[in-house]
Amino acid sequence: MPELPEVETVSRGLRKRALGRRIAAVEVLHTGIIIGDPEEFMRLAEGRTVASVQRKGKVLAVELAGAKQQGTGYLILRLGMTGQVTIQSVGDPLEPHTHVRMVFEGGNEELRFRDVRRFGRLRCCTREELDALFKSLGPDAQQATEAEFLRARRGRRGAIKSWLLNQQGVSGLGNIYADEALFEACIHPLAQPERISSDSARRLYRAVQKVLKRAVNLQGTTFRDYIDIEGRPGNYLRRLRVYQKTGEPCPRCGTPIRRIVIAGRSSHFCPNCQRRPRQVAKMRGSEKAPR
Ligand SMILES: [Zn+2]
Repeated sequence: MPELPEVETVSRGLRKRALGRRIAAVEVLHTGIIIGDPEEFMRLAEGRTVASVQRKGKVLAVELAGAKQQGTGYLILRLGMTGQVTIQSVGDPLEPHTHVRMVFEGGNEELRFRDVRRFGRLRCCTREELDALFKSLGPDAQQATEAEFLRARRGRRGAIKSWLLNQQGVSGLGNIYADEALFEACIHPLAQPERISSDSARRLYRAVQKVLKRAVNLQGTTFRDYIDIEGRPGNYLRRLRVYQKTGEPCPRCGTPIRRIVIAGRSSHFCPNCQRRPRQVAKMRGSEKAPR
C-alpha cells in the first residue's frame, strides 16, 4: 500500500514529466473512483495546464491553471491500496482497471490512473477545499520539525503504532514505515505516545526521518502493485528489517521477530530490542498476542 515514500516518488515523477503540460482531453472509463460528478470532473480538468505538484502525507495535489473564466483548480490524487499513476504513450495497450486517461496536448502521451482494488480516489476541487483537506492532516512526517513531532504526541494515549498510522497525528506513514521506524528507535508498538520519554520521542522522530529518507532515495517499496510514473517498482523491499519478517532473526540481536495485531493491523517488532513498557504490560497482561 503506497505510503509517503511511494507518493513522493510519484510526485517527483509528475513534476518531471507533467509540469507545464496542457491536458487536452480527459476520458473517464470507470466512474467509481471519481469523487463528485464525473462530467464536472472532466470539465474542470480539460484544457488546463499542470502548474505545480504538491504533496502532504499520502495526498497528491496537482495544481491546474486555466483560462481566466476557469480560474485555478486542483486535481487531488489518492492512491489508496493499489492505485498507479503512469505517463505513457497514447498508443500503449490499455491495461484492465484503467479508470482515467488524461491526454496531453500534442497527443503523444497521456496520464493514466489504474487501480485494481479501487480504494484510490480522484477529485477536482478549489483552493479552499484543498486547504481544508491539508489542514485536516497532521504535519507531514517528512517535513515536520522535531518540535512539531513532539507536540503532536501530547495527550495521545493508546498504542504509538496506531498514533503513527492515524493521519491526523502525523501524516504519511502506513504499516510498513511505522514498523520500520519503531524498530529503528527501539520502541515497542504498544507504548503510549504521551508516556514515552522526550529522549525516546526524539529518537523516534530521527528514526522516522531516516527511514523515510532512505525509502524515498530508493523510490519506495513494492510488494505487489506500486509502481512509479514510468512503471518501475520501488527498491526498498530488500532493506526492510522487521515488516513481514515474523520468525526471522532480528538484524540487531538475532531474537525472532514477532507479530501482534493492534487495531486490526499487523505490527512486526523485536521483543528484545523493543521492550514492552511496564504500564502497558500490566494493563494488558492477560491479553495473548497472536503470532
Ligand atoms: Zn532485536
